[in-house]
Amino acid sequence: MSQHPVRIDGEAVTTSTSAPIHAPYDGQEIGVVPVCDAGHVERAVAAARAAMRQAPLPAWRRAEVLDAVAELLADPARAEEFARVIAREAAKPIVTARAEVQRCTSTFRFSAAACRGLAGHEVPLDASAAGEGRLGVARRVPIGVVGAITPFNFPLNLVAHKLAPAIAAGCAVVLKPASQTPFSAIRLAELLLDECGLPGGWLNVVTGSGREVGAALVDHDDVAMITFTGSPEVGWGIRSAAPRKKVSLELGNNAPVIVQPDADIAAAAAKIAVAATSHAGQSCISVQRVYVHRDVAGGFLDALAAEVADLVVGDPLDEATQVSALIDEGNRDRVRTWIEEAVAGGARIVVGGDVDTAGVLRPTVLADVDADARVCREEVFGPVVVVDVHDEVDEAFARANDTRYGLHAAIFTNDLAVARRATEVLDFGGVIVNDTPTWRADQMPYGGLRDSGNTREGPAYTVEEMTELRTIVFA
Ligand code: NAP
Repeated sequence: MSQHPVRIDGEAVTTSTSAPIHAPYDGQEIGVVPVCDAGHVERAVAAARAAMRQAPLPAWRRAEVLDAVAELLADPARAEEFARVIAREAAKPIVTARAEVQRCTSTFRFSAAACRGLAGHEVPLDASAAGEGRLGVARRVPIGVVGAITPFNFPLNLVAHKLAPAIAAGCAVVLKPASQTPFSAIRLAELLLDECGLPGGWLNVVTGSGREVGAALVDHDDVAMITFTGSPEVGWGIRSAAPRKKVSLELGNNAPVIVQPDADIAAAAAKIAVAATSHAGQSCISVQRVYVHRDVAGGFLDALAAEVADLVVGDPLDEATQVSALIDEGNRDRVRTWIEEAVAGGARIVVGGDVDTAGVLRPTVLADVDADARVCREEVFGPVVVVDVHDEVDEAFARANDTRYGLHAAIFTNDLAVARRATEVLDFGGVIVNDTPTWRADQMPYGGLRDSGNTREGPAYTVEEMTELRTIVFA
């Protein structure tokens, strides 16, 4: 196969070495991408810097570009083309991949709106005697070149959550997509550059390893901000490698959900079954830990087991598939080892725990798990959910909070006082009542505490992160 080029300064770029990309489900080669190096990063950053300095784009033009992308992605044929790319490279079931494309459309629309509404404010200088007679304005100006580094699990929409707000803010971008899933990102860049009128240097894509290409982007003095989504280990490493840059981090999680006896137990079980296994649990807000009240625990566990056992496991391109392969065999084997460790520590496999004939790990429900097992403490990033029992809701709050992560938590209850208390006590970036922690709309402020990160994404919030206040005084 010939290389699918990346884009630097508007040009299609290939390299002497190639990286073949394989579908996680069946191992087939689906394409080949360039292997960029620090020299490509240098060219890309120079192009981005020159674009911002020599050809700044007014807000109306930037908003038009963003709207044009949304328009194209809303076209059914185009949406299907992107969904198939996602399904193939990430092993995301096609129905879920279509939902990702739809969400991406919305990310671009909200970014266009944020672009049109981007404004600073007047500073009331005459509120002090020294300022009397002067006019003060705090304007929002672009922070500078943005370096975007993205993970494999939402290869289109998480790329969009970085590119679209950057363009809205007036920042040119250099993007380093995940090595396992580069095609959604490259195709999106082609859409922006070739069909939506974004001038060349405004968006540059470099493929290659995070350790070399990602690190070169992080190290580059002309990159003003790194926006990163991925694992805590890599994210905090970037934070300490670039102490003088703005670094925004969206990291991992092991999301808890509490189920109270007054909730609709069947509905909660059905939602949790999907939220724990969608994209094989490879979502940063996938349900991992369930704390169910003892009075309803038996019925809940039976209902959850039945829902999970019914999930269709298979080829991501099959319309019926609900759960497919993990991103690679290494991760599948890691998750299996964690399940085995939990079982060795006394856990019970309620359903799943094995692989099917195609080597796909079946969705797994565990009970009686030691709270210190890795399936509780760490982020599994696989189709595994752990069910624990509580008597008092405060006990459940304490266990839910007992984590180094802090992205989303949730509670199912119809007791208003308990729901309100949950929103006060649960120490997470987001608390969802009567749905799973996996619920997200793209315009929400979204982000975590502690090891889950240090920022909030959602176009309006990201645009704010990607701009700075410039104070202007007229004497
Ligand atoms: P990852 O291994 O941390 O990789 C993320 C990105 O960082 C990839 O593009 C990777 O490149 C690059 N990278 C690796 N080492 C680097 C380095 N030393 N310097 C600069 N860049 C480097 O994460 P992942 O496995 O793709 O994604 C899974 C993680 O993302 C999970 O922890 C998940 O919870 C988190 N996540 C968080 C959110 C959120 O919004 N909070 C959303 C989605 C996912 P290569 O691919 O070339 O290694």
